[in-house]
Amino acid sequence: MTTKKFPRLVPPRVAGLPLYVPGKPIEEVERELGISAIKLASNENALGPSPKAIEAVARCLAQSNRYPDAGGFYLREKLAARLGVEMDQIVLGAGSTELIQLLCHIYIQPGDVGLTSEGTFVMFPLAVRAAGGTVVQAPLKDYAYDLDALAARLDESVRVVYLANPNNPTGTMFTAAETDRFLARVPENVLVILDEAYCDYVERPDYSHSLDTVRAGRYLIVLRTFSKAYGLAGLRVGYGIGHPEIVGAVNQMRSPFNVSTLALAAAEAALEDAEHIRRSVESNRRGLAYFARELPRLGLRTAPSVANFVYCETGREAKEDFKALLQMGVIVRPMGFMGMPQGLRITVGTEEENRRVVEALARLQESAAGARQHARLGRAGS
Ligand SMILES: *Cc1c(COP(=O)(O)O)cnc(C)c1O
Repeated sequence: MTTKKFPRLVPPRVAGLPLYVPGKPIEEVERELGISAIKLASNENALGPSPKAIEAVARCLAQSNRYPDAGGFYLREKLAARLGVEMDQIVLGAGSTELIQLLCHIYIQPGDVGLTSEGTFVMFPLAVRAAGGTVVQAPLKDYAYDLDALAARLDESVRVVYLANPNNPTGTMFTAAETDRFLARVPENVLVILDEAYCDYVERPDYSHSLDTVRAGRYLIVLRTFSKAYGLAGLRVGYGIGHPEIVGAVNQMRSPFNVSTLALAAAEAALEDAEHIRRSVESNRRGLAYFARELPRLGLRTAPSVANFVYCETGREAKEDFKALLQMGVIVRPMGFMGMPQGLRITVGTEEENRRVVEALARLQESAAGARQHARLGRAGS
């Protein structure tokens, strides 16, 4: 088909944006390779959704002719009661990434700066650029956010600061006390986004007390999601807990029916299933310990993760490692798109999946060692 081109209609701000490139569906990988594959690429819950959420979705499927409740009343009511905040401090999104996009569109005007770290979740830099803003990133320090380096980059042009805690893709965290010290250096009229997508997995007692900070009235929004520990990534539901003015602005900007009936029902039910969360966290704890033991043994550099994934570096191009692992039916995520071309991110899976990825990595390391030896012998012989 020949299509007429309209080269100037899409503004350069949009035409110049990088595209988020999704991985191939697992079914396609399996079909191409003729083997069963495991997917440890997107930090999904290895145990699946809560059975209660599945039942809730099945129950309300028959009402799909009706529009969803645009206010998400019952889910916000449950969240407010559980988190000890007012309902007008909670806003729902089609995943928390939708909220990141909306916040950037609201707070970033052309020329404004969005400040964050290098080696962090790409959705924020993408959203800042989509809004016509400029991204400033401070370097990571030992695979973790360097809050001093971030604070040093604060100036008049910075409108929004984004912190992921724990960080994706490195899995590292900063403490509540470190957050407080950082916030004391951020001007009050700067929007702070604290992305806590993996908070349910964190068991360290010195982790975030961000909701206290919200309750104290700080101009800040905490983002959480049902996509990770709650196992509902496919249904798209996340939420923000923040200053009522921020919540109000997002409500003005969002599409009224952004969260579907099925997603609302699933999230409400998942929230009540404490047992499923407990099992998920426990299984993850065992998986993290297993990777922390095995990956260094294979000669891989890793970061200390408190989330449901681990970051590691083989010292090679991660894209090549990714391809080799794919051939063994193991799908992980090479981190070039987050600016870390040597990094691989591996989601903690079930015990069997974790064993399989470690075995595949061991084979990869052996063949790389073999190739190096071969090269050395080749040079010695010539
Ligand atoms: C996975 C993830 C999210 C959640 O995305 P959803 O849109 O809620 O599925 C948000 N922030 C970070 C850092 C993540 O890794």
